[in-house]
Amino acid sequence: MDRYDAVIVGGGHNGLVAAGYLAKAGVRTLVLERRNLVGGACVTEEPWPGFRINTYSYVAGMLRPEIIDDLELRRFGFRTLVCSPAEFCPFPDGRSLCFWRDDESTLREIAKFSRRDAATYPKYVEYWERTLDILEPLLLLPPAPLPELLAQFQSQGIDELLRDLFLLSVEEFLDGWFESDQLKASLAINGLIGEMCGPRTPGTAYVLAHHNATILDGERQAWGFAEGGMGRITEAMARAAEYFGATIRRGTGVRQVRMRDGRAVGVETEAGEAIEARVVLSGLDVRRTMLKLVPPDVLSSGELERVRRFRSDGASLKFNAALNRLPNFTAWNGPGIPHTGEVEIAPSMEYLERAYDAGKYGRFSEHPYMDILFQSAADPSMAPPGKHTMTCFVQYAPYKLRGTTWDDFKPEAGEIVLQTLEQYAPEIRNTLEHSQVISPVDIERTVGLSGGNIFQGNMTPDQIFRFRPLIGWSGYRTPIPGLYLCAATAHPGGGVMGAPGHNAAQVVLEDLRASPSADSTTPGSR
Ligand SMILES: Cc1cc2nc3c(=O)[nH]c(=O)nc-3n(C[C@H](O)[C@H](O)[C@H](O)COP(=O)(O)OP(=O)(O)OC[C@H]3O[C@@H](n4cnc5c(N)ncnc54)[C@H](O)[C@@H]3O)c2cc1C
Repeated sequence: MDRYDAVIVGGGHNGLVAAGYLAKAGVRTLVLERRNLVGGACVTEEPWPGFRINTYSYVAGMLRPEIIDDLELRRFGFRTLVCSPAEFCPFPDGRSLCFWRDDESTLREIAKFSRRDAATYPKYVEYWERTLDILEPLLLLPPAPLPELLAQFQSQGIDELLRDLFLLSVEEFLDGWFESDQLKASLAINGLIGEMCGPRTPGTAYVLAHHNATILDGERQAWGFAEGGMGRITEAMARAAEYFGATIRRGTGVRQVRMRDGRAVGVETEAGEAIEARVVLSGLDVRRTMLKLVPPDVLSSGELERVRRFRSDGASLKFNAALNRLPNFTAWNGPGIPHTGEVEIAPSMEYLERAYDAGKYGRFSEHPYMDILFQSAADPSMAPPGKHTMTCFVQYAPYKLRGTTWDDFKPEAGEIVLQTLEQYAPEIRNTLEHSQVISPVDIERTVGLSGGNIFQGNMTPDQIFRFRPLIGWSGYRTPIPGLYLCAATAHPGGGVMGAPGHNAAQVVLEDLRASPSADSTTPGSR
């Protein structure tokens, strides 16, 4: 029987990050990935010859720079391109708001809607700089006990920040800053991404903070493209982990965690192979880990009930396409093209709330909001010469549809996406060569994200920091000795951030060092 120090279930980006850190410290590490490619929700595939599509996650910026450096990811092919313009937001009346990389141009754009907001905007950017000074250090550490967390905010005299981020809706938060509805809607999207919440849902201000904690080549609050596609990030992570000594087996699903004397001691693969390890790290969400991988009699019925109540609500759908050319946006009047940035369809706060209303009652939004990327416009390696890719992240798409199923409804959802796009880019249909709709059910089936929730569990304040995934289970250790959670279901949550994988690896190293076994080297650092 094979024996390792650590076996990691799932080669999503967090599993790979954990593997990199463990292997680098000299831990004999094995990653078992069910699919034939690693990366989980962070992959690039070629559904149509020559078109590289970011099937699920599509925009880079959340990955912590410390991880890029520690795992030497640049050496293994990790590169990014900053979106420029940062964001283009067309409106139905033919106007638009463009966020440029230079402040002067952005302020001129905002002033088209409100001079007062243009004057306030630099203070808003500065507010986030200060907020990130506080939030960023919390990302690469296990979540602090609540009194400590509160004390950290209070000692700096920023109770107001604490209140705003954790209790306000993104609409209330933005109302405190701006008057222009267009500007607020453009900014609000980052408070809604991935969540079955509307802009008026309390707690969405924190979701905004989570998505503002980006950094790209040293530039904070920036988003961009992973050169060659998001899959290049996880390919680089896999190569790094292997370079440091980890073994990665693709096409090897895990059926069950093996238990002995109440302790996790390895796994059994779907093919029936038994693999022994001193510790098991699960890169799956808490529901999938505890309800599917752990044998049924290990946790108490009370614990299982708590796991079942962990909320993992799908809200998002992807519409991916191959294009014969870039479609024009009627509202574009800037220099260059808008396609090298993020294009947002979010015309007003009411539009966003109404889109959510549909999702709330089990319907796909008749007028969804969208975050659209044409990566090939900035990175020609994504499509055959002269052709282009388009990926649309679309909300709201509830996991459970009322009166129909996703398998039946997908063509209609695709039609709604195209009708919505046509209002801003009328020739879109003529540019379309191929398209695919990835529903929340597809996301669950293929990647294993429970409920199709893109973050391995909702990111509202009731499920973050010490509450993630459950009260008492927040530090990567679980009630089962030897079993750890190392992915987005744990603090600080979802996005291609790598932080849960990093943090879990540190906790595992601590435990392995505390109880060295006779036949293994004590983890050090290479
Ligand atoms: C549609 C969509 C769009 C997104 N957009 C963005 C974005 O633009 N930017 C961003 O930063 N984030 C985005 N996200 C979020 C981000 O991609 C995820 O939060 C992140 O990738 C989660 O990584 P993970 O390693 O924690 O887990 P996962 O990616 O869920 O990895 C889990 C892995 O476990 C494997 N697995 C499952 N069951 C088994 C088993 N039994 N045995 C072995 N292996 C198994 C899966 O195949 C998978 O590889 C998006 C997610 C989705 C779904």
